[in-house]
Amino acid sequence: MASRDSKVKKAEIFSLCLCPTCPSWVSCREKGGFCLPDVGRSKCIAEEKGCICGACRVTKMFALKHGYYCTRGSEKEQSGK
Ligand code: SF4
Ligand code: SF4
Repeated sequence: MASRDSKVKKAEIFSLCLCPTCPSWVSCREKGGFCLPDVGRSKCIAEEKGCICGACRVTKMFALKHGYYCTRGSEKEQSGK
């Protein structure tokens, strides 16, 4: 059941993700959620023009400590894990 749970969680994260309203966002086929290890960096966003992850409910939910996941890698990656 773990994979089903993680699918539900992932869908919830995508629905909460604020990336599409961020100044750094580049519209392509991505859905955001770059803080997740299995999403990882964006293939479209290259320039850091501000990050609004701090205002995202996912940051609070998972006590995320970083930002710019689209360009710098997931929370896990930036934590050196
Ligand atoms: S913390 Fe950032 S990357 Fe993660 S879901 Fe929220 S806005 Fe998207
Ligand atoms: S990870 Fe941060 S900088 Fe990148 S698109 Fe999402 S809110 Fe913007």
